[in-house]
Amino acid sequence: MHMLPAMRSHHKYSRRALVTGGAGFIGSHLCDRLLQRGYAVLCVDNLLTGSIRNIRPLLNHSNFQFIEHDVQGPLRIPGELDRIFNLACPASPAHYQRDPIDTMKTCVIGTLNLLELARQKSARFLQASTSEVYGDPEVHPQPESYRGCVNPTGPRACYDEGKRAAETLIFDYHRVHALQVKVARIFNTYGPRMLENDGCVVSNFIVQALRGEPITVYGNGSQTRSFCFVDDLVHGLELLMESPADITGPFNLGNPQELTIEQVAREILACSRSKSRLRYESLPQDDPKRRKPVVDAADRTLGWRPRVSLRQGLEATIAYFALRLATTEVASEQTRRTSSKRRHHLTVANHPAG
Ligand code: NAD
Ligand code: UDP
Repeated sequence: MHMLPAMRSHHKYSRRALVTGGAGFIGSHLCDRLLQRGYAVLCVDNLLTGSIRNIRPLLNHSNFQFIEHDVQGPLRIPGELDRIFNLACPASPAHYQRDPIDTMKTCVIGTLNLLELARQKSARFLQASTSEVYGDPEVHPQPESYRGCVNPTGPRACYDEGKRAAETLIFDYHRVHALQVKVARIFNTYGPRMLENDGCVVSNFIVQALRGEPITVYGNGSQTRSFCFVDDLVHGLELLMESPADITGPFNLGNPQELTIEQVAREILACSRSKSRLRYESLPQDDPKRRKPVVDAADRTLGWRPRVSLRQGLEATIAYFALRLATTEVASEQTRRTSSKRRHHLTVANHPAG
């Protein structure tokens, strides 16, 4: 059980939001946005795939508080709470498959704990669900009414079925306890603060392109995805949370521009002016063949549509990674030099004669 200290005095005068997974890629952008909107923000994260680096500029903000906590354990928060955004869960296939049992527990037990908290506080609850609830879809493009095609025993199931079970719990809390709930089914999202080593296609390809390494296309690159820039996505989450109480979703939030993975590779090579070549590697098991959201419901009900073009989004993301790689590569070069100097001193000290 985690007991939190009372929030600094500001929360009395503004609405207070809890963001789980707030030190992650999407969560940290959401924290930025909520603070701009005047919310007091409580960010809860166990730093599994998130990083303090993402929220460092917020740590001195009087309306921001960070708590290191695993949502698999219950969370007790003194005082009022108006909004809960539940984003805690590793999102990239490499990360969620590394400890699949833990992923399932985060999705199910974590969501259950946060729903209980929402019930105690009469807070609105928004869930970061996923297009993975559609699995390897047989209906294309995917509307919210499609029930999906998930392999329940495959390596992606810990995430896909975990998120499906979380949706079930959320709608049961809504029916049984009249909790105000909102579910966003997020499609592939990209932008600054993705991790350079998360194994996702956009981050992998950009890092490979910037380093001049081969671009690793899995399969023949004909599988498709639809990529949404993080600012658009966060705007959708905000609009959904503030929509009238009877609107629950689920809503698809994603960019309907569909691309093959080979097209993604070519776009990134062009945007980064890289001369890297494509290298074809084997396709992971159960990799969905195509994915494209129908976003008419979000458009009609929330007035939301993505606005940032692929080019603009990729340019911003490439600029972020270029800076990040330069910083980490300079840092590791310095470490290498210092340790080789130290080794040299030790060698000299051990062999004074020469
Ligand atoms: P991310 O890995 O950057 O962020 C997830 C955050 O949750 C991390 O900071 C991590 O440390 C934290 N976390 C994980 N398990 C936790 C636990 N048990 N307790 C507390 N914190 C925990 O990923 P992201 O891309 O920012 O994804 C955020 C949310 O959006 C996730 O729930 C993910 O399933 C969902 N989503 C993301 C995408 C996408 O394309 N990025 C697509 C669909 C859904
Ligand atoms: N992919 C790829 N090369 C990579 C990483 C991913 O070809 O280096 C492919 C992957 O097989 C999938 C698509 O890109 O078909 C999107 O993968 P990602 O892991 O980013 O997201 P998800 O599969 O969860 O949609």
